[in-house]
Amino acid sequence: MKLKLHTFDLPLRHVFTIARESIAVQRTLIVELEEEGVSGYGEATTNAYYGATIRTMTDALVSVEDELLRRDIDDPAQLWDDLYPALHEHPFAQCALDQAAHDLWGKRLGQPVYQLWGLSLHQLPVSNYTIGIDTIETMVRKMQEFPDWPIYKIKLGTDHDLEIVRQLRQHTNAVFRVDANCGWTAEQTLENAQALKEWNVEFIEQPLPAECWEDMRRVHDRCVLPVIADESCIIPADVDRCVNHFHGINIKLSKCGGLTPARRMIQRARELQMRVMVGCMTESTVGISAIAQLLPLLDYVDMDGALLLAQDIATGVRVEQGRCIYPSTPGHGVQFP
Ligand code: MG
Repeated sequence: MKLKLHTFDLPLRHVFTIARESIAVQRTLIVELEEEGVSGYGEATTNAYYGATIRTMTDALVSVEDELLRRDIDDPAQLWDDLYPALHEHPFAQCALDQAAHDLWGKRLGQPVYQLWGLSLHQLPVSNYTIGIDTIETMVRKMQEFPDWPIYKIKLGTDHDLEIVRQLRQHTNAVFRVDANCGWTAEQTLENAQALKEWNVEFIEQPLPAECWEDMRRVHDRCVLPVIADESCIIPADVDRCVNHFHGINIKLSKCGGLTPARRMIQRARELQMRVMVGCMTESTVGISAIAQLLPLLDYVDMDGALLLAQDIATGVRVEQGRCIYPSTPGHGVQFP
């Protein structure tokens, strides 16, 4: 397999603000794996919180280029395991490569990846659309730009969080989810949850900083809304730690290292009776189409990344009013110009 790397600056539709940072342009790395004229594509966006830059991802992938040249795409999970010693400190790079391997695998076999995994598209969760932090007026406008979505995920972590939700609620009957991105204390979480429940919020994502396990245990036991781990649940080994601290986990492909470890995390979470969500990191349609393959396995999904961009760079799975539309092409269905 030949390795090719492409980098892009993806301008966002709006500056995207969460509790700890704002971004206007999302840098992203597209990995292409080519075998006998067929190409598979994968993606990982850069991320300051997780220390992933184009440089660190590129260096990691170039270090395994010779190994890739020697191999065929017969089993993407085996490839992930074999490259683990070389790549495990670079999960974002690992993710982009693993997605490309799966897309190529499906394209070579002429079937969608979800089908090769034995999954069907009969019952799928709908995606939320995410509203980043802004003035309340702009947050209302952002929601109205994407009307008729069944679920909105509201980013919180300001000094007026309840007022944001109260005002957004006046403009829609859709279900809300909130994500504090580590911005609250245990007391704030327990108190906010009471009001949020009245406003039809279905869960709270990562209220406390990632390492606050003791406080999280208290929140888990007393909170009137379910709590879902994001920053506290990164790799497969974290899933067991989340039991009795969170009611579910939000898996990000780039945090854990791709589809291969994500499937293992889903399986483990199910064994532990935890709910499962997959989220995104403002990826283009390349990364979103990879997430779509996992959809039949999930309770919740946040796969609006490509819609937060001012312009996309590929075609593949589309998300309309929260519902996924799959192309009839194999792999992840990604076509890249
Ligand atoms: Mg989150």
